[in-house]
Amino acid sequence: MIKLSVTSKLDGIRSWSLQAIDTCPGSIAAPGVLVDACKGCYATTGNYRFANVKAPRLHNQTDWKRDQWVDDMVQALDSDRYFRWFDSGDVYSVKLAQKMLEVMTLTSWVSHWLPTRMHKFSKFKTVLDDMQALPNVSVRFSSDSVTGEYTKGLHGSVIVPTPDDVKRGMTLCKAYSNNGKCNGCRACYDKKVKVIAYPAHGVSMMKVIRIIKQGVTA
Ligand code: SF4
Repeated sequence: MIKLSVTSKLDGIRSWSLQAIDTCPGSIAAPGVLVDACKGCYATTGNYRFANVKAPRLHNQTDWKRDQWVDDMVQALDSDRYFRWFDSGDVYSVKLAQKMLEVMTLTSWVSHWLPTRMHKFSKFKTVLDDMQALPNVSVRFSSDSVTGEYTKGLHGSVIVPTPDDVKRGMTLCKAYSNNGKCNGCRACYDKKVKVIAYPAHGVSMMKVIRIIKQGVTA
């Protein structure tokens, strides 16, 4: 059975998600150490710790392996116009990525947004390229930085400490000025928008940025 989630930020737009960190090999900088952007991960705190939030994510981790999964996903997206893959977790398996590509191909009426760190692993290149080649799919490779550093032509999103840190070439996510909601913005789903800058939020992320800045100035 397909289990989709809705995050309050995204104007009711639905997501298919997995358990954070467990399915995020791209979040590991070194054994036992997360990349900076994942150190304050919102999907490991707050509501995401509750059993009723974890359950569909754990269910999805085995459910995608069913033969009928692609057909069921296509049917589930019948009335959606926008779809975000992974409000938590990542596309940790090439086989999952190939099935997602099928879903994206068969749902041309949906604008898909896939944020991911799996571009770090060369075996994902072909399938991620094939997704990005679809007119209805925006694959955004996430930078690991929380201080606005990214590689032009590679990354499609980066965290910045504050809105004032946005530089030329970045598009600022303004959810922070709309009570944390997209409020009609669909920039993340728009292939023409090259790099989105998300201002850091949450106590953990602020702490990470403080530590990094202290390290830089020490
Ligand atoms: S850039 Fe726009 S679509 Fe993306 S998260 Fe921010 S408000 Fe939502």
